[in-house]
Amino acid sequence: MLHRRGRRRIPRACVLAGLGAARVRRSGPTPVGVSERGSGLTSPKRRHSGGTVPDSHRCSTAIEAHCSTGWFDGLMDVLILGGTTKARQLATRLIDEGVDLCSSLAGRTKSPRPVPGPTRVGGFGGIDGLKEFLTDNEVKVMVDASHPFAAAMHGHAAQACRDLNLPLARLAPPSWRTQPEAATWHWVDDHDGATQVLADLPDVILLTVGRQPVSHYLRLGPRRVIVRCVDAPEEELPAGWKVLRERGPFTLDREREIFSQGVATLVSKDSGGTGLDPKLRLAAETDVQVVMVSRGPAPGWGDELSTVDDAVQWTGNHIATVIEQ
Ligand code: NAP
Repeated sequence: MLHRRGRRRIPRACVLAGLGAARVRRSGPTPVGVSERGSGLTSPKRRHSGGTVPDSHRCSTAIEAHCSTGWFDGLMDVLILGGTTKARQLATRLIDEGVDLCSSLAGRTKSPRPVPGPTRVGGFGGIDGLKEFLTDNEVKVMVDASHPFAAAMHGHAAQACRDLNLPLARLAPPSWRTQPEAATWHWVDDHDGATQVLADLPDVILLTVGRQPVSHYLRLGPRRVIVRCVDAPEEELPAGWKVLRERGPFTLDREREIFSQGVATLVSKDSGGTGLDPKLRLAAETDVQVVMVSRGPAPGWGDELSTVDDAVQWTGNHIATVIEQ
C-alpha cells in the first residue's frame, strides 16, 4: 500500500521498517539524525531514459534487463556502492520497498552477477567525480556496501559525503577477529606481511585473496600454490602455482575437495561474517594453518552497519529526514 506525501509516495513497508531505530555504530558525525519515526520515501515512477545523466553514468542496458521496476531516469534517492552479496541483497530489499536507487559496480569482474534494479559500471573519477555524480543525480543518501577491502572506495565515499553533507552508511559483515578460532590464526596487516609469514609455513598454500593482490605473493617463487579467483590473474605465475577459477560462495563439500589436494596453509582476507565461512571451519577441523589479512582502518566518517536489515531501516530513516528538510 502506498501513502501519498506531496509528490512522493511512501510504501507502507518502508513506514513499518522506519519505526524502530537501526543498530548503528557511529564513527563520525552523522549529517542528518536518525529519525525515530522515519520512513522510506519514493519518487513518483519515472520512465528510464538516462535523463540528464552523462553517458558513462547511465544504466548498462545488459543489466537494465534485470531491473524489476524498469523505471529510472538517472535521478535516484539512494546510491549503493556494490560488488558484494550484501549490496545485492540490499538492492533487492529496497527495490521491493519501492525506493529509487542505483547500484554502482567497479567493473572489475568480466561477468558480474546480475544486480536487481538500475546499475552503473566503472569508476567515478576520484572524489571529485563521485561528488559530481552525487550532485548531478540528486542522490539523497549513500550506502557503501563495497567489500571491506575496497579501501580507496571507502575513503572516497567518506570524503565525498562529508564534503556534500550527505548521509553515508558503510555496510560490512563483522570482522572474524572475535571468533574463537581467530586466536590461532596468523594475523597480518597486509599482503606483504602475509608473504613474510608464508616463508615459514608449509605447502600446499591455498590463496583466497582474489586476483588483484596476487602480485604481492609472486615473491614466494616456485612453491605449491593454488590461486582461487573468479578471473585468472594477469601475471605470469611461478612454477608449481595453479589457478582455480571459481566463484563463491563455496560449500563445505567443495572446500573439502579442494583441501584434499594437500592444502596445508590457507590465506584469506578478513572479509568477515557472523560465523566462520566453510573454508575457515574446515581449516579449524583439519589443523590447516590460516594466514588472515586484517582490514584497514575505517575512514572515520559515516555510520557502520553490519546487517542488511539495519541498512534498509537506516536508508528509510535518512531518506525521510532529508526529504522533510
Ligand atoms: P578500491 O581499490 O577501493 O577502488 C579503486 C577504485 O575503483 C575506486 O577509487 C573507484 O574508482 C573504483 N571503484 C571501486 N569500487 C567501486 C564501485 N562500487 N563503483 C564504482 N567504482 C568503484 O576497490 P577494489 O578493492 O578494487 O574493489 C573493486 C570492487 O570489487 C568493489 O566494488 C568491491 O565491492 C568489489 N570487491 C572487492 C573485493 C576486495 O577484496 N577488494 C572483494 C570482492 C569484491 P574511481 O576513483 O575512479 O571512482
